[in-house]
Order: sequence, then structure tokens, then C-alpha cells
Amino acid sequence: MLYERDRREVLPAVRNGVEMLPLNQVLTGQGVTMSADARGSSLVISYGGREVTVYDRKSLASVGGDLRLLSSPVLFEEGRWLAPVESLPRLLQPLLGKRVDWRAASRLLVIGDVAAPRVAVTTSVSGDTVRIVLEASEPVPFKVQQDEKRVTVSIARELLETPPRQERLTGGIVDSVQFLGGRENVFAIGLGRRFQQLKTSEEPARLVLDFQARPLTAAATPAGTPSPGAPVAQAPPAGRVAPAETRTGGLRTVVIDPGHGGEEVGAMGPGGTMEKDITLGIARKLRGALVNGLGVQAFLTRDRDVEVPLDERAAFANNYKADLFISIHANASRSHGAKGSEVYFLSYQSTDEESRRLAISEGAVEVSGGAGVAAGSDLALILWDMAQAEHLEASSALATRIQEELAEVTGSQGRGIKQAPFRVLVGAAMPAVLLEVAFISNADEEKLLVSEAYQNKVVGAVVRGVARYQQQRASVAGGTTAGPGRP
Ligand SMILES: [Zn+2]
Repeated sequence: MLYERDRREVLPAVRNGVEMLPLNQVLTGQGVTMSADARGSSLVISYGGREVTVYDRKSLASVGGDLRLLSSPVLFEEGRWLAPVESLPRLLQPLLGKRVDWRAASRLLVIGDVAAPRVAVTTSVSGDTVRIVLEASEPVPFKVQQDEKRVTVSIARELLETPPRQERLTGGIVDSVQFLGGRENVFAIGLGRRFQQLKTSEEPARLVLDFQARPLTAAATPAGTPSPGAPVAQAPPAGRVAPAETRTGGLRTVVIDPGHGGEEVGAMGPGGTMEKDITLGIARKLRGALVNGLGVQAFLTRDRDVEVPLDERAAFANNYKADLFISIHANASRSHGAKGSEVYFLSYQSTDEESRRLAISEGAVEVSGGAGVAAGSDLALILWDMAQAEHLEASSALATRIQEELAEVTGSQGRGIKQAPFRVLVGAAMPAVLLEVAFISNADEEKLLVSEAYQNKVVGAVVRGVARYQQQRASVAGGTTAGPGRP
């Protein structure tokens, strides 16, 4: 989360809900001198004749003799000076004499002047063509790649400014447009059933993509069977034409649901980490990994820190005609020793008392008497009949595959697959699972949850679980060779 010329990753520490960065790591390579007093109550950082002094457990800092108020206190801990991320620009810009920017959305602390082109994306439809225009504030290298299911545009710039984007289109030519981010700054455009060919035209700061539809008459014949020959023949030489269809066995769209958001922060760790932030971080990584690893489309029910009602989350997945719904959470327990991952699918009966309590804290379906389906209210029964009921077997299979992979990386064999009446899963008209990645209430697991490395491990496991689930379904359903099935 730090940048100058080369990107470096610095893990934040969260104290009282505030993200803090260790000053010595942030300032590595900047040529500053740091000297703390003997008791560790203050630290003087000097550079080029300028000085900044920070004080342990104080929100005041001295910057070149002037007092500045920070967003929260600096902390001296185990030999490290932690400063609130948000206040770093106020501290470091006058010290270093160059621009220091905290970009919360992309989680980057930018030191120095880095050109960050802005890219605007517009979509328009006329007749049988969908036009998508990427307009940059300065010339950038656009790289367009195409395979069976999607077109990606990557822009190889270290930093790019573009608003979060996730757009769903109707009409069957282009299904979706979204910004996936990552180092390559990838925009992904999901192709619809009517898509026939892509024409691009490029100027230095502008890329025009015209997606043309197959005439409706011709579309009638090959609609059902995506014959491998026909549409691909049109594809330009885009490098590897991945056999995405066989790899994912017909899996097209996954909706990922980052639990909680906005005022509704979810569970809190002893160090102040909020569940809503962890779930969003993991969900974003999972989206990128599913799109890049399995060639599917993936969407988030929320891509910002915003509150979304539980029922709307499943409705979102239904609207997007998702093939899978994965809700991400972090667990909390009154017992501070509780640890490990759990994967849930829906049931009106809870596996055990702990699962029942968890479902209530995450938003449970109200079942009068708590005795299961027979005692359920009419409303609950109707919902049950409508949506998730017919997918329970598949949901259970998906939960199993994901938990097996998670157990490999988290070492939590003991916990496993469970059932509970999670409201967020009820309305989902597709296989749906809820992941409790780890216990945020456990101080050790809280540290793991905020670490990028651990989040990536979890994401990798979920992707492998989804891939194995899908291969299994494909081989059962189609009888066709599932292929080598690289997970
Ligand atoms: Zn939760």
C-alpha cells in the first residue's frame, strides 16, 4: 500500500479501528534520519534540515515547529512507531518536500509525483452495436484481448484513476462491463449470446470498442449449443484462446457478497478490525481471481463501504442470473480461543447451538420456536419453496469442496461444513454458500485476516473449490470429458 517508482506492500496494523502504518517501513529508502528519545516517548524524523516530531499516544505532532493535529494518536509499540494512515500526508509532505497522497479507494500511499491518468468509460447502444469508449486524460497503452466469453482491456500504468464500475447490460450483445483493477488495471467486458464480432479503433488517449451482434435470424439456430467452431473463428489472434467453457463446465457468472457494510460493521476484532472491511477486501480479491483464473464473470453485491439489506443481496444475484452465490464473513465467538474457517449452506435447522447463534448475529430467518421447517412462519416457508430449496444439494456440494480447500490452507479441519438459517442465502435461486473465513474475535486470526498474504491464500482456496465443484457437476451432467481440469 505504498508507492514511489516501485510498489511496495506494507501491512497495516489496526488499532481501535484505525489503520496504522509503521513509520520506519513507510520511510525506507527516503533518506530520512529517525531518532527516538531513550524512553520511547517521542520520535524525531529529519530530512534536508526539516524536522517532524511525533509523540507516543498523542494526536499532536510538531511539523517544522508548527503543531499539527492527527486523526488519531501515534503509538510506540514493540520498537515500532505506528502512525494513522490518513494523517501520513500531513506529516510527511512538509518533511519530504514532495507530494504525499493517501488514496483510500485503491489503498495506496503515493509518495512523490506520479502521473495517474484518469480513465472514463462510457457505454452506448445503437441498433445491433454496443459501443464502449475508454477515454484517458493522457495517452496510455491500451491492450485488448479476447476469448470466448470476454474481452479485456488492460492499461499498463502503475496508477490509474477510474471510478469503481460494475455495469450490467441487457440485449445479449455485451452482458457486463466492470473494472477489476489489479496491477494491469483490467477492464473486463463479458460477451453476450448475441455477440458476433469486435471492431476496435484506437487513438493515443481513446479506445473505441464496437461489439456487433449476430443478425437475429442466424442467431436462432446455434443458440442452444455453443458450438466451439463458429463464434471463435471470428476472434482476432488474441494469444491463448482459453478453453474456458471446458475449464469451468458452463459456469458463467458468480456473485460475491461482502458481508455487512456502512453503519452495519459486523463483528469487531480485539484490535479494532471491522468485519465489513475484511469481507470487502477478500471479496474484491476473489472477484479478480475468479475472473482471471476461471474466466467467468464475477460481481460484488457491494463494491463500497455501504449498507445493503440482506434480501437485496440475494436479489442482486438473481437479477444477474448468477450460477453461484458466495457470501463472505468473518466469525466471532464469545470464546476467545475459537478459530478456523467454516462454510455454511442454508437450513432452517442449525447444526449446533453455536451455528444458531452465529446465524442470528449474521441475520437469521425468523423461525418461530426455532424448531425447523414445520414450525416456520408462512413467509419463511414461501421463501423456502421459491428460491434456495431446489439448490440445497448443489449448495452442500459447493460448501464441501470449498471447505476442503480452505482446510488445506487454514488448517481448520475441525470445523467444517455447517447448516444454519442465514437470511442472506434464503432468496438465492442458485447454489449458495456463506463463508466464515476465520474468527475475527481471536486476536491471532484477526492479524491473519488483515494480512494480504492470508487473504490471497483464502481466495486461492475458494477458487480451487469452485473449480472442483464445477468440474464435478459438468462430468455428472454432461458426461463429456471434463478435460484435464486445471483447478
Ligand atoms: Zn458477518
